Amino acid sequence: MKAPAIRVENLTVSYRGKPAIRNVTVTVERGLRVGLIGPNGAGKSTLLRALVGLLVPDTGRVELFGQPPEAARRRVAYVPQRSEVDWDYPVVAEEVVLMGRFPHLGWVRRPGPEDRRVARECLQRVGMDAFAQRQIGQLSGGQQQRVFLARALAQEAELLLLDEPFVGVDAATEETIYRMLDDFRQEGRTVVVATHDLSRAQTAFDRLLLLNQHVVAYGPPQEVFQPKLLQRTYGGRLTLLEVADQRMVVGP
Ligand code: ADP
Ligand code: MG
Repeated sequence: MKAPAIRVENLTVSYRGKPAIRNVTVTVERGLRVGLIGPNGAGKSTLLRALVGLLVPDTGRVELFGQPPEAARRRVAYVPQRSEVDWDYPVVAEEVVLMGRFPHLGWVRRPGPEDRRVARECLQRVGMDAFAQRQIGQLSGGQQQRVFLARALAQEAELLLLDEPFVGVDAATEETIYRMLDDFRQEGRTVVVATHDLSRAQTAFDRLLLLNQHVVAYGPPQEVFQPKLLQRTYGGRLTLLEVADQRMVVGP
C-alpha cells in the first residue's frame, strides 16, 4: 500500500518555548484537497512550515509520502503567505517560476531551454505569460499569487501547501486558484490550503482540518462543517449570519 501524502503524529511546535500547535495528529490520504481552517494565530502557518521541515518540532513527527520532510522535498511545493515574502527581492516573474525547476536540475546545473519552456507554460496556465519579465514587486497581490502558483506547477510537485492564497487577491485570481484546485484533484495531487474563506470551504475541499492550536476536527465537509465545531474552532469570534444560505461570516 502506498504511504499517505501526509502523516503527522503528536506534533507540538513552539516559538521560544511557547507552543503554537499542540499534539497534532492527522493523516491525509493522497489525492485529496484539504482546507486548513482556523482563526488568526491558530497555528495554520506553523503547521505548514513544520510539514516542509522549516520548523523543528518539540515532539512528534512528520512523514510525507512515508519519508521525513527533508527526503520528500522535491515532491512538495510550499507557497508561503504573501506577507512572509520579500517582494523587494530583485527577480522577474519568470525567474521565480524557474526556481520551481531547481529540484529537477542536477548539481550546479543551470536551467536549460526545456526548463524555460516549462516555466513559460506554467505562467501561461495562470494567465501571467504577459508579465514574465516584470519585477515581482511591481505585480498586484493577485498576480504575485499567480506567479507563486506557477512556480509550484513548474516544480511538478505531488503535494502542494498553499498558505492563505486568497488573501489580498482579486476575484479573477480567486477563481483561477479554485479552478486549479480542481485540476490538481484530477491530476491526483494532494493540496492543503490554509484559508479563511468559509463560504467556499464546503464545496471546494474534500476534507476540512479545523485547527485552533490543536485539531478540533478532520473529515469530509459534510461531517465537519457544523456550527458547533466551527464555534469551537473560532471561539466566540464566529458570527453565523447566513447559515441557511450556507454562507458564514467571521466577525469580530
Ligand atoms: P496562523 O497562520 O493560523 O495565523 P501562526 O502559525 O502564524 O498562525 O501563529 C501561531 C502562533 O505562533 C501565534 O500565536 C503567533 O503569534 C506565533 N508565531 C508565529 N510565528 C512566530 C514567530 N516567527 N516567532 C514567534 N511566534 C510566532
Ligand atoms: Mg498564517
